[in-house]
Amino acid sequence: MIPVLQVEDLKKHYPVKSGFLRRTTGQVYAVDGVSFSIAPGQTLGLVGESGCGKSTVARAVMRLVAPTSGRVLVEGTDIATLSKAELRPYRRQMQMVFQDPFSSLNPRMSAGDIVGEPLLVHGVATGAQARARVAALFAQVGLRPAQMDNFPHQFSGGQRQRISIARALALNPRLIVADEPVSALDVSIQAQVINLLMDLQRDQGLAYLFIAHDLAVVEHIAHHVAVMYLGRIVEIADKVTLFRNPVHPYTRALLSAVPVPNPKLKRKKQLLEGDVPSPMRPPPGCAFHTRCPIAVARCSVDAPVLKERDAGHLAACHLADG
Ligand code: SF4
Repeated sequence: MIPVLQVEDLKKHYPVKSGFLRRTTGQVYAVDGVSFSIAPGQTLGLVGESGCGKSTVARAVMRLVAPTSGRVLVEGTDIATLSKAELRPYRRQMQMVFQDPFSSLNPRMSAGDIVGEPLLVHGVATGAQARARVAALFAQVGLRPAQMDNFPHQFSGGQRQRISIARALALNPRLIVADEPVSALDVSIQAQVINLLMDLQRDQGLAYLFIAHDLAVVEHIAHHVAVMYLGRIVEIADKVTLFRNPVHPYTRALLSAVPVPNPKLKRKKQLLEGDVPSPMRPPPGCAFHTRCPIAVARCSVDAPVLKERDAGHLAACHLADG
């Protein structure tokens, strides 16, 4: 089966310019060789601390920024180098949901107009046909069609995110890239929005790239999980394997902060010392060695490669075997 999304060795480097002549004096290695794929009806959770490059991956996949190199295959076609016009048909297949539903919705447009806008822009429907489609989308995401004429400020945070999801669904996409879609919401509302996304996936076979800064959020929705650190994936596996048998020390530290329902099984919390280093000057060797609790001398010299430990379970750590 062809993956809905296949990302191969994706890099996004930003030049740093300084001085009177604005010469390039360095690079920010925001994303530095990321590969993964997502099958139809599946969710990949991409997690890591802020600044690890996960949102840049999302923006590069959506071609909101042009990748420096690498391939982004949408149902087998590489869109990384397509022109704006060539990209247009693929824009319908992939839609994005942002973290802050308030700033991503135009406050001067009614909710119905916001949801119906993609139909008009892509010439899919107009007039009464568009309004009927918007009403159906409202019902699909748990909003009342009678709310179509209300403006974003008249909705709660959770409802505004439902409007964003309805807009993303308008063109029947195959892939939704959700960048921290529940981080700005109350915990009780987070669960409702995640359940809605899961219901939509079950009904429509959608694939999700779901970005989050902690593993607890992806635990319910993801089928596979990739953990990013300083622009690279350090561990990737199916969710059950990653939660039960994490092998990278960074994944273990992130997992130790995930609450478990049974107090007898409480995990020992591992606090990571220091901040994520600057992506302008990633540490030599293993980029995690400055914070790794089990680093050995080799770690500051040799960069570990992402290797398969078990079928479908890859990790980048010299000590992961042991
Ligand atoms: Fe830690 Fe070394 Fe493994 Fe990097 S390679 S995660 S520094 S043990």
